[in-house]
Amino acid sequence: MQNRILKSILVGACTIAAASASYGLISQKAAEDKKRHEQDKLISAKINQYTNYVPPAAPAPAINAEDISEEVEHTVQSGENLASIFSELDLSREDLHKIVHANAIGKLFAEMTPGRDLVATVNADGELEQLTYCKNPIETLIATRRDDAFDVTLLSKKIDYQIAGVRGVIKSSLFEDGKQAGLPLKLILKLSDIFAWDIDFAQNLKPGDKFTVVYEKLFVDGKEFDSGDILAVEFVNQGKAYTAVRFEDNQGNTGYYTPQGDRLRKTFLQTPIDFAEITSSFSLAREHPILHTIRAHKGVDYSAPAGTPIKAAGDGKIVYRGVKNGYGNVVEVEHSSKYSTLYAHMSGFKSGHKVGSAIKQGEIIGYVGSTGYATGPHLHYEFHIDGVHVNPVTAKLPRSLPMDKNLLAKFKSQTEPLLAQLAQSKIQTQLAQN
Ligand SMILES: [Zn+2]
Repeated sequence: MQNRILKSILVGACTIAAASASYGLISQKAAEDKKRHEQDKLISAKINQYTNYVPPAAPAPAINAEDISEEVEHTVQSGENLASIFSELDLSREDLHKIVHANAIGKLFAEMTPGRDLVATVNADGELEQLTYCKNPIETLIATRRDDAFDVTLLSKKIDYQIAGVRGVIKSSLFEDGKQAGLPLKLILKLSDIFAWDIDFAQNLKPGDKFTVVYEKLFVDGKEFDSGDILAVEFVNQGKAYTAVRFEDNQGNTGYYTPQGDRLRKTFLQTPIDFAEITSSFSLAREHPILHTIRAHKGVDYSAPAGTPIKAAGDGKIVYRGVKNGYGNVVEVEHSSKYSTLYAHMSGFKSGHKVGSAIKQGEIIGYVGSTGYATGPHLHYEFHIDGVHVNPVTAKLPRSLPMDKNLLAKFKSQTEPLLAQLAQSKIQTQLAQN
């Protein structure tokens, strides 16, 4: 019995193939380490607990430990939940209730994923002694009976990170040649996403273009089970090299930057709606189509069907959301003390936002309409620099808001080793290819 429990704790019952749900593990690495440390402590506490296990006052005398408990293994089927599994295994509903409500972790038992394994250790009276559930390749939930209640803990296996470098040459497509080079599919997609502003992967790739990618491989129990994030990458498109390196800022946001510290993703979208045509450009003097007076048009009109989503041009916060005379429904977003954008004639606002809401670039803020003075559904889009209206199509907009000195120092110390690794991967794989 004692050995059996130890075995379940240390080995777990993870017989399930790796899932690819570990994206974002890297950004939480520090937190994970801390968690892992706490969990290591938990494991040893648990081991001590059972090493010092004192049998109940009047134990059944000459019964072999093997006879008093039995491990029942069950693989979760689609459509099953813990309650249906409990009734199938003839376990008490009362125990189920105790486990799920044991503590905050207990609730995790309620999320059963098909294909994962559950092990119930049942004593001679058919009572549940311990329940083990392999949530994923890394985490195992364990509920252990203690008197009339259950101790529920979540144990995590240690994840080992290894940095890997791959290099490839484009012969047919990024997808095919990325796969050929051994780059996991999600990293191929990530690579094209990182350079989406700079390289047109659909139109402008040429045979002979090259890529070098430095990324993290994740291991558990000595087996690779997933890939982490791209850490640094170089893509040479038609002889021009583009380099990106991953950086986590003080707010914990990660993004890709040039080695100089400029964001790869531009600070402002070129247009706040997809597939729309400019029907009226920025001008400081024109005849208003309804008022028939000569008035400046201090924005750009994009014609689009009513209901088309409108996206925030950049990260920022909503500073106005409501009706503004001829503008109809308006959202105004402040991006920094210097830059703001305004979106007018909306049919409606994105629900859940309010004045003060922080929003991300590309986040939907409302929908095209014709509220206010408008001849038909369109978006009237304004760009303000220091409160002055500028033409968003022609204005020289910053690629990136500059980093302050401290952040830049942090950027350098975080990214220099990654760029060194990238340079090394280029040399090593070149040597290997020669
Ligand atoms: Zn307009």
